[in-house]
Amino acid sequence: MNYGLVIDTVFKQILAEPSNGHVASYIPELLKVNPDCFGVALTLIDNTSYSIGDAEIKFSIQSIAKVFSLALGYKTLGDKIWERVGVEPSGTAFNSLLQLEADHGKPRNPFINSGALVICDILLSQIKDVKSELLAFIRHISDNQSIDYSPNIALSEKLNGFRNIALCNFIKSFHNIHNHPEDVLDLYFNLCSIEMTCSELSKSFLFLANDGKKTTDQSTILTSSQTKRINAVMQTCGFYDESGEFTFKVGLPGKSGVGGGILAIHPKLYSIVTWSPRLNEKGNSEKGMKFLELFTTQTKYSIF
Ligand code: GLN
Repeated sequence: MNYGLVIDTVFKQILAEPSNGHVASYIPELLKVNPDCFGVALTLIDNTSYSIGDAEIKFSIQSIAKVFSLALGYKTLGDKIWERVGVEPSGTAFNSLLQLEADHGKPRNPFINSGALVICDILLSQIKDVKSELLAFIRHISDNQSIDYSPNIALSEKLNGFRNIALCNFIKSFHNIHNHPEDVLDLYFNLCSIEMTCSELSKSFLFLANDGKKTTDQSTILTSSQTKRINAVMQTCGFYDESGEFTFKVGLPGKSGVGGGILAIHPKLYSIVTWSPRLNEKGNSEKGMKFLELFTTQTKYSIF
């Protein structure tokens, strides 16, 4: 397969198409980005990589970071995490409060905001200096010491994060948040503020295509069963109420963020990341979704 040629052809086609999407504005700091940035990076499990466009510019990875926090939570507490958060698609927006009342404060999955808040709470209870440990974990997975939180984005979200603050307090009222909501929210806002490039993200998440092992030194990040399960949850819940659509059109497990990034994994083959900040009405990158749909169509490979 000539991946380089497919990426080049599909990139040019999608770049030329107009986009009606909008950059996320509810976190004011995110509005500072150039809305027309567009980058793609692909890394195969033999560590061969291809990139195009703005693949080396750092951007706010937002909810893609929820895959890192889930990986650390799963590694630390094992299957017990599923007592606190479910594995069902929500069919609702990423920041919805709707189902929590009926579900008695147990979020449907770890990739909607409520679920990620519960994972942050678990990490706070399990790990002493969690903000530095989480960063150390991500830097270790990525072999990259430059990865960091963005204080400006974290603060911007904290000052405007009224729904997340409501979600955290609401879950606390059901006793499914054990720490102080302010500490949970601080960790959550920092997690979402991490900045990385498409190339860095695609290399970092390659362990999810490689049975939970880093491809550089074959060291174990997660067991192969944990890896399969994270991929399964990404497949069913990675795009909020557009998860079915992504599965239908792209056919790979993946995770989006409101910074405009999308990660997708082809188990045993590759990890691919797209970045284009203009979002569709569900909060997923418009060009990123279109690129990945054409990419899996032209390579003729998806997990189905
Ligand atoms: N930090 C964002 C929020 O909590 C993340 C949302 C997202 O990327 N979907 O609203």
